[in-house]
Amino acid sequence: MSTPYECSVHTHSTLCDGKGTPEEMAAAAYAAGVRYYGFSGHSHVPIPREQAFVLPADMSAYRAAVLSLREAYAGRMDILLGIEIDNLADVSPEGFDYWIGSVHDFAAPDGEFYAVDYSPEEFARSRDELFGGDAYAMTDAYYKAVAEMAARRPDILGHIDLVTKYGEKHDFFDADAPRYRKAALDALHAIDPAATLLEINTGAMSRGWRTTPYPAQFILEAWREMGGRVIITADTHHPGTILYAYDKAIAAARAAGFRACTILTAHGQEECPLPCI
Ligand SMILES: [Zn+2]
Ligand SMILES: [Zn+2]
Repeated sequence: MSTPYECSVHTHSTLCDGKGTPEEMAAAAYAAGVRYYGFSGHSHVPIPREQAFVLPADMSAYRAAVLSLREAYAGRMDILLGIEIDNLADVSPEGFDYWIGSVHDFAAPDGEFYAVDYSPEEFARSRDELFGGDAYAMTDAYYKAVAEMAARRPDILGHIDLVTKYGEKHDFFDADAPRYRKAALDALHAIDPAATLLEINTGAMSRGWRTTPYPAQFILEAWREMGGRVIITADTHHPGTILYAYDKAIAAARAAGFRACTILTAHGQEECPLPCI
């Protein structure tokens, strides 16, 4: 029987915006006891300033790098070829072992782009320039984009409440406000629990923005009531954070009533029990 600590499938490398080469990331994963490691590079987006942080539109070099590592680790660790598809991506997830659907960006009618998670300053600029200073109009628009992504039935819905990234350090909006919660739950209800896993993602914890994983407990509890399944990920960009704060993610899942999580393997999805933390 596998454990959640054997799977890490939301990961980045120097081929997009990560700090470790694919070889370094795979070696760190193997050393950490991971047996199912997935690469999920950021998909290409038609945003000029993001080109240094995403994969090129031609993903053949990315595929080749991942598949060569799959061979190198054959029999020791399953390497999966995944991709994190952005809501504004101009590439398809076809031909990958799995895909993570994530909303990171807003597009303005004048062709300008705004990232949700780049910095608090950019967050404020989006709120002011795109939504007239109304943070709840911004969170409504964010969750509308999440619902559209959910309708595409990704294998994993990425960091569903990414819009809360700066909430512990900046008072942009009240995440307990009824309008905010309704928008988040409407997006959650757009996910098909039979098609898509919701991720419990510790990425903002390793980067110092949050002390708890995505998503908020009320979202996790509603997802359990919907019969949904969860997967634990670190959204790692560094060889030192392959399994970052998995204990906290497991505790959050258990507190919401989950007793198992799903992992991805070379032979498909597998359920594993959540240990008591
Ligand atoms: Zn992401
Ligand atoms: Zn990511």
